[in-house]
Amino acid sequence: MTTTAPTTAPAQGPEEISTGEIQDAGHVDVLIVGAGVSGIGAAHHLRDESPGQTFVILDAQDNRGGTWWTHRYPGVRSDSDLFTYGYRFKPWRGPSIAGGDAILDYLDEVIKEDGLEQYIRYQHRVTAASWSTENRRWTVEVTRDDTGQRLRFTTSFLWMCQGYYNHAKPYRPQWDGVDRFQGLLVHPQRWPEDLDLAGKRVVVIGSGATAATLIPAIAAEAEHVTMLQRSPTYYFAPPTTHELAVQLEPLDLPAEWMHEIMRRQYMTQYHWLARTSFEAPDELHAFLIESMRPQLPDGFDIDKHFTPRYRPWQQRIAMVPDGDLFTALRAGKASIVTDTIETFTEHGIRVSSGEEIPADVVVTATGFNMSVLGDVAFTVDDEPVDFTGHVTWRGIMINGVPNMAYVFGYFRHSWTLRVDLVSDLVIRLLATMRDKGATMVVPMLRPEDADMQLRPFSDPENFNAGYVMRSQHILFKQGDREPWTHMLEHEQEREILPKTDLDDGTLVYR
Ligand SMILES: Cc1cc2nc3c(=O)[nH]c(=O)nc-3n(C[C@H](O)[C@H](O)[C@H](O)COP(=O)(O)OP(=O)(O)OC[C@H]3O[C@@H](n4cnc5c(N)ncnc54)[C@H](O)[C@@H]3O)c2cc1C
Repeated sequence: MTTTAPTTAPAQGPEEISTGEIQDAGHVDVLIVGAGVSGIGAAHHLRDESPGQTFVILDAQDNRGGTWWTHRYPGVRSDSDLFTYGYRFKPWRGPSIAGGDAILDYLDEVIKEDGLEQYIRYQHRVTAASWSTENRRWTVEVTRDDTGQRLRFTTSFLWMCQGYYNHAKPYRPQWDGVDRFQGLLVHPQRWPEDLDLAGKRVVVIGSGATAATLIPAIAAEAEHVTMLQRSPTYYFAPPTTHELAVQLEPLDLPAEWMHEIMRRQYMTQYHWLARTSFEAPDELHAFLIESMRPQLPDGFDIDKHFTPRYRPWQQRIAMVPDGDLFTALRAGKASIVTDTIETFTEHGIRVSSGEEIPADVVVTATGFNMSVLGDVAFTVDDEPVDFTGHVTWRGIMINGVPNMAYVFGYFRHSWTLRVDLVSDLVIRLLATMRDKGATMVVPMLRPEDADMQLRPFSDPENFNAGYVMRSQHILFKQGDREPWTHMLEHEQEREILPKTDLDDGTLVYR
C-alpha cells in the first residue's frame, strides 16, 4: 500500500478551491464513501487496527449519519435493538430501541472519541471511479453539492460504505390522479420540518417499518391517520427495554459488560428467529399473528389486515415497540384500509372497493430506489463496469474490480453487526497485501468457476422485499458456491468471515 501524498488533512473549505476545472484533491491510502453507520464504523476500524494509513471519508449529504440524517420524520427509530445495532467497540447505554436522534448522538460520540470529524468531507458526491492497473490506483471524481466544484482524489483502496438506496430520490409509484390532489404529498425521506398535522386527516400509504413507526407518532396530533396498504406486513411488539436489561439495571454493571450481555441475548433471539423462519415458518407465522391478537380492538379483521402472504422474514418483520401502533388502533386514532389505489381525487384517495378515503396530507411510505454502489460510474482500465455481469466475493468485493470493498449489512439482523465483521476482513486484507508486497488485490473466478451458474442478487425465496425485487436487473449477481455467495445469516458469517482464507486462489495479488 502506498502513502505517496498524505492528504488526510481537515476538509478543505470552498474558499480554498477555485471554481471551474476539476481540481486535484490529493492522494489517500483508503477512500471511504459514506459517513453513515458503515463509513464511520469502517473509519474507526481502519484508524484503530491499521494505523498509519491515510484516509478520507466523502459523503454527499451535509451531515453525518446517512439513513439517520435522511430520515427525520416524527417518531423515526430503529427496529433493531441498539446493543447489536451499536458497534462491537462502543457500548450502547440507552433503551433497546432508540430514536433517530439518539442514534445520531451515539455516532457523534464515536466521531468525537476517534477524532474523525477532520477526515469527513460533506457535500462531496462521488460520481466516478476509474481504476488504473498501471498506476495501481483509483481516480475518484467528486462534485461538491454546495459549490458545484469538481475534485479529483486518487486512492490505493476504495471502501464503499454507501448504503443500499438513493438518498436524494425516494421511491414513489405512479398513481392515477396525483396531480389533481389538493392536499399535501410528503415522502418520509424528505419530511418538512415545519409540517403541522394538528386537526389534519392523514393517509399513510405503506405498511412497512416506516409506516408502523410514523403512525403512532402522529396519531395523537392528527385528527385521524389511515394506513393504506396493498398487502399486510408482519409485526412484532417487543418491549422498548428488554426485560433482561431491566433485571440487570440494579446491578450497576460496567457499560461494556451490559453491552456484551445484551448483545449476546439479542443475537441468540434473532438467530432463533431467522432459523425458525426457514425451519418452521408456519409456527413462526402463527406465533407472530397470535401475539398481535390480544393487542387489537375487538372484532378487528386480523386475516385481512395483518396476515401477510409471504413467509416471516422473507421481508423484514416490522417492530412495534410496546405495541404503540396497536394502541393507536385501539384508541380509534388510527385505522387500516387494505386495498389497491384506484385514483387520487381532489380531496383524498379512492380505492378499488369504491371507498374514498379523505386526506389533507398523504404520506408515501413506499420505500426506496436502490442504488448500486452509490450510483458511481466505475471503470477498470478504461472499461466501464457493468455490474450486472459481475459476481460478489462474499458480499464484500466484486470479481474483476481491484482494490475495492463494500459494506452491505444484514436484512434479518442488525446491519452494523456486518460492518464490524467486514471491517475486520478488510483490515486483514490490507495487512495481507502489505505482507506480500502487493499493490493490487482482485477477486478472480478460478478455472473451475468459469461455467458457474449465476444467480440473482437476491433469491426471491430467501428475501423478496419490493425495493430489492424492483432492482434485481441493475444489481450484481451471486454464484452457486462459496466464496461467490452473499446474504448469509449472521450466525453463519460470524464463524466464516474471521476464518476466511485470503489466499485461497480466488483473490489474486499483484
Ligand atoms: C427509517 C429506517 C430505519 C432503519 N432501521 C434499521 C434498524 O433498526 N436496523 C437495521 O439493521 N437497519 C435499519 N435500517 C437500514 C439502514 O439503512 C442501515 O441500518 C444503515 O443505516 C445503513 O448504513 P450505511 O452507512 O451502510 O448506509 P446509509 O445510512 O445509507 O449511508 C450511506 C451514506 O453514503 C452516502 N453516499 C451514497 N452514495 C454516495 C456517493 N456516490 N458519494 C458520496 N456519498 C454517497 C449517502 O449520502 C449516505 O449518507 C433502517 C433504514 C431506515 C430507512
